[in-house]
Amino acid sequence: MPLQRPKGTQDHLPDGSPKLSRDIQASAFAHVQDVARRVLERSGASFIATPLFEEAELVKRGVGGSTDIVRKEMFTVYYFGDHGGYVLRPEGTASIVRAYLQNGLKQLPAPLKLWTHGPMFRAENVQKLRLRQFHQVDYEVLGSTDPLVDAEAIWLMWEVVRELGLTGVRVKLGSIGDPEDRERYNAYLRGLFGAHADRLSDDSKDRLERNPMRILDSKSAGDQALLAELGVKPMLDFLGEDARAHFGAVQAYLREWGVPFDLDPSIVRGLDYYRRTAWELHHEGIGAKSALGGGGRYDGLAEQLGGAAVPGIGWAFGIERVLGALEAEGVAFAQVDGPLLYLAAMDEANVGLAARLALAGRSHGRVEFAYRAMKPGSVFREADRRRARHAAVIGSDEAARGVLNIKNLGTGETREVPVADLNAFLDDLSQQARGTREQA
Ligand code: AMP
Repeated sequence: MPLQRPKGTQDHLPDGSPKLSRDIQASAFAHVQDVARRVLERSGASFIATPLFEEAELVKRGVGGSTDIVRKEMFTVYYFGDHGGYVLRPEGTASIVRAYLQNGLKQLPAPLKLWTHGPMFRAENVQKLRLRQFHQVDYEVLGSTDPLVDAEAIWLMWEVVRELGLTGVRVKLGSIGDPEDRERYNAYLRGLFGAHADRLSDDSKDRLERNPMRILDSKSAGDQALLAELGVKPMLDFLGEDARAHFGAVQAYLREWGVPFDLDPSIVRGLDYYRRTAWELHHEGIGAKSALGGGGRYDGLAEQLGGAAVPGIGWAFGIERVLGALEAEGVAFAQVDGPLLYLAAMDEANVGLAARLALAGRSHGRVEFAYRAMKPGSVFREADRRRARHAAVIGSDEAARGVLNIKNLGTGETREVPVADLNAFLDDLSQQARGTREQA
């Protein structure tokens, strides 16, 4: 058996590949990225890209030393030399806030909307739609605490989902308040769980000291049973006046714009720099436990990274999970268009001519050519396999007269086109193809 790709990764393959069930159709993946780009750039977001690896310290501070991501799931990169190691980025927010601070992006008009997409890396236990290299679309807004920014961020995520044609998505919305609200909530949780510490999982015993809110997030069945039994009050009951007003405003905007959502008190973000609005998108087709995406406000993060205070909010969704949801809903993807024209010569002497005409035609549309002489029957078979719309076979007679016999593979009609008119002919075909796509 030839060497295989690492566990928890996928190949992105061309249309028509035989093993697409376990891998990703590259054109479908690109379609999700394109829709996100369209929606986000229409809103004024600018594209940003950051390195795939970062200083470990950035990820520790940005994602939080107590999270599973930092404690158990980091891919560390060593190289020759005595550097302590980089890590492959597990998410995009910390890098974007770092880039904002490092490059003085505060000078740009605020609030600054940024978006990116790309691979993220987490050494997770691999399951369906839980990968070690997965891909996110990521949107971040820096420089505003306005609830309108929060509502717009959620609206944009909803808009991406809507333009993709997904219908089974739920928005679950919560607020985790301000730091002083969380202090009160944590004090409450410590009191509540303190009496039952012996029943908590080891991880949660640890959390009880450091960050009791994260117990609510625990994956342990025992912890979840205890939570249900104790009837824990939600964070929402502990919001202070300011956070409550902010949260009320976010909800009012969403209602006004027709974005449906459910209040979900179980949404927690245990880290200090998270503030106020937090949400997740779920889809029935990919399992209750796997979110399609999530987002939240992180007004304390820039300071955590050693910069001046800059409020921020952002979201990310996993492209693989979006593709899973689309598949569950049976949304079909158009394949990439085949060539407008496939050109082949009948004898070796004209292979070069076919190639030259194809190269010249390419500024007018997708044109392919055969690398060796072929009989007309093989040319049409080959053109079909490539899903070409037209095929032309060049013999010495056509070459001498300066014409091409072009067959429309859809209708079977054949017509003679002077070589000098080939580019105009391709332009017409391109326009027709565009028209058909737009109608679809
Ligand atoms: P998070 O940064 O954990 O909030 O993740 C944001 C989104 O990225 C999730 O809602 C998923 O859609 C996606 N995601 C996170 N981890 C994985 C993973 N291991 N495999 C696939 N998608 C993931």
